[in-house]
Amino acid sequence: MRKSDLCVADVYAPYVIRGFRDDPPFAANEFQHNAWFVANLFLKDRPKSRFVKDFPLAWDNVLYESQSLGYVTATHQKGIDYGPTVLTYYYPMCEDPAGRTTLFNYDWKQLADVCLTDLARAHPDIYELTQRIDIMRWGHAMISPRPNFIWSGIRQKAEKPFRNIHFAHTDLSGIALFEEAFYHGLRAAVEILGHGR
Ligand SMILES: Cc1cc2nc3c(=O)[nH]c(=O)nc-3n(C[C@H](O)[C@H](O)[C@H](O)COP(=O)(O)OP(=O)(O)OC[C@H]3O[C@@H](n4cnc5c(N)ncnc54)[C@H](O)[C@@H]3O)c2cc1C
Repeated sequence: MRKSDLCVADVYAPYVIRGFRDDPPFAANEFQHNAWFVANLFLKDRPKSRFVKDFPLAWDNVLYESQSLGYVTATHQKGIDYGPTVLTYYYPMCEDPAGRTTLFNYDWKQLADVCLTDLARAHPDIYELTQRIDIMRWGHAMISPRPNFIWSGIRQKAEKPFRNIHFAHTDLSGIALFEEAFYHGLRAAVEILGHGR
């Protein structure tokens, strides 16, 4: 490691930093995450919308009254509104208290079915357009906001560097928002540059 370095997420600190577990400066297991699966659907053409006519796909799309986070159009930055595309779909297991176990018990076919059934409500032609689905199961996705965590003092302890390793991630805010990522990234960079806060 260089003189000062960034570590991405606090929850991994005990597993990736030598000596951390011998005398932990903060309780990494207090940073709790939901499990989810992420599916990449390879489509031979753009899906039609059941509700909106003649309107191109947005980058980020949320399905009304769905438990999923919806999907992003992974080819959006190409600026093309027709032809083959890849949709990246996110499904958190937060409704189920044993969500992580359920997730790891589901096989590819069951997860693909969850994903296609959900998407078909907005895009009835999704079955005939989808040529391939790659699914990843994430045991620890984004941090879960929970009562009494934000002001518990745990986050504040975890903001402090461990030796020359500085922490920067939305995890440190207890909620997964872009603004928090920017804040912690800048904070840690300023600390490393030695300017203080
Ligand atoms: C579908 C979706 C929609 C979202 N919508 C919104 C929204 O509308 N508004 C909002 O505010 N937030 C939104 N978020 C949340 C937001 O994207 C995240 O909170 C934010 O991107 C987290 O930023 P970060 O820099 O803390 O961490 P990350 O973006 O997770 O960055 C961590 C980086 O570290 C890398 N990394 C991991 N391990 C290692 C390693 N061992 N070595 C080297 N590199 C490593 C990863 O590849 C990654 O690039 C959304 C998230 C998703 C998934």
